[in-house]
Amino acid sequence: MSQLKAVRGMRDLMPEVTSLWQHAETVIKSQLHSFGYQEIRLPVLEATELFSRSAGEATDLVQKEMYSFADRSDGSLTMRPEGTAGCVRALIQHSRLSQPARLWYAGSMFRYERPQKGRYRQFEQIGVEVTGYQSADIDAELLEMGLRIWQALGLSDAVTLELNTLGTAQSRPAYRQALLDYFERYRADLDAEQLARLTANPLRMLDSKSPTIRKMIQGAPKLMDFVDKESRAHFDRLGELLTGLGVPFVVNPLIVRGLDYYTRTVFEWTTTELGAQNAVCSGGRYDDLVAKLGGAPTPAMGFAFGMDRVILLMQERAAQIAQAVDFYVVPITDAEQLSAMHLASEMREALPEACVVCHAGSGKIKARMKQADRSGASFALLLGEEEVKAKRVTVKPLRDQGQQNTIERTEAVEWAIKSWRAD
Ligand code: AMP
Repeated sequence: MSQLKAVRGMRDLMPEVTSLWQHAETVIKSQLHSFGYQEIRLPVLEATELFSRSAGEATDLVQKEMYSFADRSDGSLTMRPEGTAGCVRALIQHSRLSQPARLWYAGSMFRYERPQKGRYRQFEQIGVEVTGYQSADIDAELLEMGLRIWQALGLSDAVTLELNTLGTAQSRPAYRQALLDYFERYRADLDAEQLARLTANPLRMLDSKSPTIRKMIQGAPKLMDFVDKESRAHFDRLGELLTGLGVPFVVNPLIVRGLDYYTRTVFEWTTTELGAQNAVCSGGRYDDLVAKLGGAPTPAMGFAFGMDRVILLMQERAAQIAQAVDFYVVPITDAEQLSAMHLASEMREALPEACVVCHAGSGKIKARMKQADRSGASFALLLGEEEVKAKRVTVKPLRDQGQQNTIERTEAVEWAIKSWRAD
């Protein structure tokens, strides 16, 4: 029988790495909280139409990357490839657009892409979406919050904020046409896929990775020259606020983002430390999307951290947040198992932040002590026949912190609290 394996591009995260995930998630969520953002939880499955209407029919996301299937009754469903569309759908459905909202979500996204380092078919995002704010101050708030998160993760020097403006949907057709006219000259040099891309979504030529196209782009018309006056003013104001807030950024006129719904500000935090998959957090303004999905016209903006890449970046930087066991309670024989479990319970209750492991699984004392040592605990607390009879506990330091000694059973919890505080 062949061995069953996880689906290609979908990963198991083993305990060696989940502690790093928990750490990163806690850090990010606490920053989101301190900026006044509230959590929203959304379904993984949505009607396929939600994504074709929001991201745009001609995008790679909709054409090639969606996990869609026919439901038994509800027509075509899709496993969410991103969080923005579902969030907007929910706000419309629950009539939440009359008041501004600052929201965040966390969860798995699914895209049928070619897996490689940093690119998976199931990946995790923590995203934020803000609705109801038109002016550039909210753009600045989001970007400042992004910076604070990178700082809290200890990664601010690993990433660069690249910023651009796309102008409004009204200013874009003229630019699309200018790009089409420009690339027309190079028609003979483009392969079938590039030609298809040009026809479907000419702006996407700008973020092509092909060296030939990159060269052609140097002489291409500049988006900034086509952007409407208000969008330019919005962008200038954002630049001013970011400078005032000390948020470093570079303007990259080639950032266009893959989805149709973006307007005005678009951005990516990129890194040079992860190879080809260099975007670690991306987003932008999408002032037309709410109306496009049937809600009252409402300006909005958001971004999402690619958590898999955040974790890779932390690992590149050798951040090891191994879950440290603090106390390991060892019954010397099975006869003391229950007493040991009681002691561990009392310690956990008194010290909820500490990690207390009670030995499980029989074995000789030597094997039990080996497990205690392997756990990384600072102290083992031993309970044998003699200890139970004398109502005492043996405390054995495991990391060269002095001599083994015995203490009263009634004082064991107090001792644990003291030694935890002293640490
Ligand atoms: P997007 O929804 O495309 O704006 O992506 C937001 C972030 O999610 C990107 O900056 C990436 O860090 C991450 N991301 C997008 N696609 C993938 C993928 N296939 N695997 C892992 N991370 C991804």
